[in-house]
Amino acid sequence: MEICFTENEQAFYDEVDEFLQTELPADWPSRTIIWPGDYAPSGYGAEQNYEIAFQFIKKLVDKKWLTISWPEEYSGKLYTHMEQSIFDERMTYYRAPMVDSLGVGIVGPMLLRIGTPEQQAEWIPRIAAAEIRCWLAYSEPNAGSDLAAIETTAIRDGDEYVVNGQKVWSSGASISQFGWLIARTDPSAGKHQGVSLFMLDNNTPGITIRPIENIIGESHFNEVFFDNVRIPAKNLIGEENKGFYHLMSALDFERVALVGIGGFRRMYEELLEYARTTERDGKILGKQPDVRCKLVDIGTRVEIAYQYVWQIAAMIDQNLNPTVESSVLKVVSTELARDMSEVGMDILGPYSQLTKPSDRTPLRALVSRGYLDAISATIGAGTSEIQRNIIAQRGLGLPRYKGKGGKKS
Ligand SMILES: Cc1cc2nc3c(=O)[nH]c(=O)nc-3n(C[C@H](O)[C@H](O)[C@H](O)COP(=O)(O)OP(=O)(O)OC[C@H]3O[C@@H](n4cnc5c(N)ncnc54)[C@H](O)[C@@H]3O)c2cc1C
Repeated sequence: MEICFTENEQAFYDEVDEFLQTELPADWPSRTIIWPGDYAPSGYGAEQNYEIAFQFIKKLVDKKWLTISWPEEYSGKLYTHMEQSIFDERMTYYRAPMVDSLGVGIVGPMLLRIGTPEQQAEWIPRIAAAEIRCWLAYSEPNAGSDLAAIETTAIRDGDEYVVNGQKVWSSGASISQFGWLIARTDPSAGKHQGVSLFMLDNNTPGITIRPIENIIGESHFNEVFFDNVRIPAKNLIGEENKGFYHLMSALDFERVALVGIGGFRRMYEELLEYARTTERDGKILGKQPDVRCKLVDIGTRVEIAYQYVWQIAAMIDQNLNPTVESSVLKVVSTELARDMSEVGMDILGPYSQLTKPSDRTPLRALVSRGYLDAISATIGAGTSEIQRNIIAQRGLGLPRYKGKGGKKS
């Protein structure tokens, strides 16, 4: 039990826990290969697990828990942020399948906030029913941390906008139906003005999506090229030229949405169990002082990350703005994912280098995968350096950092 829960929150925690234990196979967490903070979509392991994942997601839709953060109409009840965090914690603790966290976590809530009734009618039911997936078309070769530097243009032509340019690192673009696109609608305006948001149908002529192979040999992210792509003007989301401001509020959803805190505790428990039960050179690993120290450090950091999750939820429920705390949690959790993998590699010793599941590979090769992949999370959704700039400036009141190359924080 978490010390800060009320009776109702504890009851909800138990309800979600029971649902997950009933609806997923008992060994599901150990069938999957998902490192905490993992971006990769292939974590279900064997082929037959995809059908289980599909059926489970249908149950989530029926229970309206896929859209638990949405208004009552879609979630069945107005859940507090604490309840949403409890749900996220339990889901990720069981490594439960989730489809399209970008559509449900970012695009849907933004459409409900700034979309027209027609736009909501067109996309909201399909996102809520897990019928469509969305990808985020933000970063470009010359615009990442400094998103206001985007160069892709969307120029109005009658009832359409004509898009030209390129996006990169676009997670899931090749397996999604719609892009959540930012493009420059007024190239003559200042850097933070003249940018707009669009829903982009992936089937529109002129779009080329090229998967990029990542460090673990998977093609999750992509580069995407636009060559005179015509988007209907009705797909403009929010006010024209105000896209950058809309986007900043969408990024807040992203930072809070991507933590998956339960996965940290689950992985930590797996490492502990391995250290408790595995002998090396005739000695139980968990009796070795260096192993014990490393596990204590990691365990302490898992608890710190948990406290930030609950604190942020409590702050939002009290109408406080957790900008600084969200940045702290992003740094704490993603760097923990990275450091936990390093400790895991140490504890597994030479076996840590086996990358394919086999009788000799400990923990389904999850640690070696995490070791390679964990760097992703410290970069995506705002790098650790950018988060530290936010903490320094807004949290500690230090002067604004402008950077040598004029990069903004
Ligand atoms: C796994 C993964 C998935 C991603 N998915 C998506 C996606 O779906 N859609 C999308 O649009 N983008 C996505 N991205 C891109 C991601 O948002 C960018 O990589 C990130 O914002 C950093 O931008 P950049 O790569 O251009 O690096 P840069 O901004 O060029 O930064 C390079 C280095 O300089 C540092 N730096 C930059 N500015 C400052 C500053 N002011 N102060 C201190 N240090 C600074 C950075 O921290 C970094 O270490 C993804 C990235 C990864 C790794």
